[in-house]
Amino acid sequence: MRTKPLHAFFVVISIALWCAQAVAQHVDRAFVNGKIWTEDDARPQAQAMAVSGDKIVAVGTNEEIKALTAADTAIVDLQGRLVVPGFQDSHLHFPGLSVNEIDLHGVETLKDFQQHLADFAKAHPSLPWITGHGWGYSAFPKQTVDKKYIDAVIPDRPVYVAERDGHMGLANSKALQIAGITGATPDPPNGHIMKGESGEPTGEFKEAAQDLIGSHIPQRSNDDLYESLLQHMEEAAAAGLTSVQDAYTELDTLPVFERAAAANALKLRFRFAPPILPKEGGAPTEHKLEKSLVEADLTRYRELRDTFQGTLLKFGSIKGFLDGTVDARTAAMFEPYVGGGTGIPFWEQDDLNKTVALYDKEGFQVLLHAIGDKAINMALNAFEYAAKTNGTTGRRHRVEHAEVPRLSDLPRFKQLGVIASTQAMFANPDATVLENFAPLLGPARASHADSFRIFDEAGIVQAFGSDWGVFPFEPLPAIYCVVTRMTPEGTPQGGWYPKGRISVEAALRHYTRDGAYASFDEDVRGTLAAGKLADFVVLSSDILTIPPADILKTKVLLTVMGGKDTYRDKNFR
Ligand SMILES: [Zn+2]
Repeated sequence: MRTKPLHAFFVVISIALWCAQAVAQHVDRAFVNGKIWTEDDARPQAQAMAVSGDKIVAVGTNEEIKALTAADTAIVDLQGRLVVPGFQDSHLHFPGLSVNEIDLHGVETLKDFQQHLADFAKAHPSLPWITGHGWGYSAFPKQTVDKKYIDAVIPDRPVYVAERDGHMGLANSKALQIAGITGATPDPPNGHIMKGESGEPTGEFKEAAQDLIGSHIPQRSNDDLYESLLQHMEEAAAAGLTSVQDAYTELDTLPVFERAAAANALKLRFRFAPPILPKEGGAPTEHKLEKSLVEADLTRYRELRDTFQGTLLKFGSIKGFLDGTVDARTAAMFEPYVGGGTGIPFWEQDDLNKTVALYDKEGFQVLLHAIGDKAINMALNAFEYAAKTNGTTGRRHRVEHAEVPRLSDLPRFKQLGVIASTQAMFANPDATVLENFAPLLGPARASHADSFRIFDEAGIVQAFGSDWGVFPFEPLPAIYCVVTRMTPEGTPQGGWYPKGRISVEAALRHYTRDGAYASFDEDVRGTLAAGKLADFVVLSSDILTIPPADILKTKVLLTVMGGKDTYRDKNFR
């Protein structure tokens, strides 16, 4: 038989090639004695891993990996610690809060709110405007905000601070005066200027009405944006993040990312999603797609996609908003909120269908913010329309947040290959969730709101994110949250609608492999396997086996992105 010697010949050749490759891939670092949680079905767990340049060259037993090392290979003894793929946050907002803005997250009382503002104003005497965000309604008497609360501490400078969701904000009297807003100012399309019984504005602005104030706030400088980017990347790396999906990219911030890339200062891989907007105002009476506007955007987005194809900065998605939030009663619902109103759908279905189909045809992935059941339904309708019209599959379009889906819509996600881009910390049952969010929905809808299990059970790819700067981006406390559905303080006992809990394994998958899939990167990262990018995290405890409460005490010891340490705990050698 001629095949035998030929076969032997190929074996010799392939061994030679393999050796040549192994020699070419000098192992820079070998991580041994670990519990390597790979997310790779072919080898779910391993002891050791070899890294060369920006890639993983091998995953295996201690012996297998040690056999690949050279004399100058750095050996890192993991001492039994857990290693997981680098976390991907599939929905957040960079460059994030300015170093010159006030952060009001965690402010729980009116007194706190006022003290923070007063201190910040004193510390920043030359800022012409005081801006920031992060407050929640639960800090205010009767959950009601008013400009008088800011006027009492800052009467002489304009102030505008956004609520933590960013869908509304509170101005003081000076800001209203500068913007020329009075009781006679009408609501803009898709927004509300809240007014008191006397008809005077209260200082609260919802949705698009925020622009009435925003257009008077001085723009952030590029240096300010750059400083913010660097600072927040550092914080993200310390939290174990290696990749992020920016969920609404304002293109004028792009030079800041390019500057960081040129300076070799990127600590995260970014995927961007610039906006798509409804036809002016999105008024339901206007049906026609404004071709010129969309096509101008499309041309620009195509150019960006062609330009940014690397593993660090990448385009290919676009983002639209279909509704607001439950807390502001602007999430679009089929049935009224408890207390009335069904929210504001920002798009008319026909306009949405055509716009989504246009981008789908061009190969873009479409991200649609949809929180209420009506908005989620509209998003799915549009994805279905695009698939039918263009005959496309595999676009991996995404519903962002998907907080209150109609249960009968869940199978459509899987049928259409739509990803649920959910936010783990949204299920944190704090005062706002228990006293505002859940009561507004009523028990029937609240019982499956932010229930990540329903997506898993329906076989839907679920990518976890944070929606930072709305919520913190640290994945470990968020994993605790989805596993317990309790606050860090352990309330409510037994968890908030505990049926929605998921396992640590599932949460890890949503933060790693599913995230990579959601950004079309599963061939290069998201799992720990030979040939993949060396993006991974070493944790201080094995979160797969410890009691859930201990996940909160677990630390990120080392974050590696592309083979380079982007964070190292001082106690990790
Ligand atoms: Zn967002």
